[in-house]
Amino acid sequence: VSDDHGVAVVAAVEAIAERIEAERDYLTELDSAIGDADHGGNMARGWAAATEAARDLDDPDPETVCKTVGKTLMAEVGGASGPLFGGSLVFASAELDDGLTAESAVAFAETYLTKVEERGDARVGDQTIVDALTPTVHTFKKSIETDDLPPLEALAKAVDAAERGVAFTVPIRARKGRASYLGWRSVGHQDPGATSVLYILEELLATAADA
Ligand code: ADP
Ligand code: MG
Ligand code: MG
Repeated sequence: VSDDHGVAVVAAVEAIAERIEAERDYLTELDSAIGDADHGGNMARGWAAATEAARDLDDPDPETVCKTVGKTLMAEVGGASGPLFGGSLVFASAELDDGLTAESAVAFAETYLTKVEERGDARVGDQTIVDALTPTVHTFKKSIETDDLPPLEALAKAVDAAERGVAFTVPIRARKGRASYLGWRSVGHQDPGATSVLYILEELLATAADA
């Protein structure tokens, strides 16, 4: 049986890979200021491989696509971000085993964030991807469960929240990852990983709006 949502998730993966490739130099520039100048390359390599793996699936369903993409990111991205982006995706994909609905998307988002926090031991304010993910997940959950918004509107609000989360990384000091080695000198720099999270979410929204 073909799964329309599975096909849409593959389309999202393709859009994300294209966007990350387009932003590759900028992401690397951000990482050169507070890290080791490889984030754009790491992510571009990972998402290109993930796109191939996702396209190779017969009859993709959302859970399988997410699991496959996560495994590929773990294998190809490397660095700190591979296990964080990829490993958490493999784990959270189980929330989609009954398909993609507003409810399962909320569960997926919450599990993803919990896993990132567990693996990376970072909290809001540490200048990491957690600063982008936390407001995103909380806003998405509230928009669906409390405000009863349609999924697309909830996702749009979540993307706005991610944008604010990325801006929040600039004036704060890194306490996890390579940037933390700089101490106070990390202040004033936008976190590369959080920036990638925003691009991923923007492409998810664009693909969902197109579907
Ligand atoms: P590396 O730092 O190993 O070169 P990347 O450059 O690909 O890996 O990724 C760096 C990004 O990873 C950072 O910008 C930050 O967002 C994220 N990151 C690093 N360590 C952690 C952590 N412990 N928890 C959450 N995110 C982290
Ligand atoms: Mg790096
Ligand atoms: Mg590195």
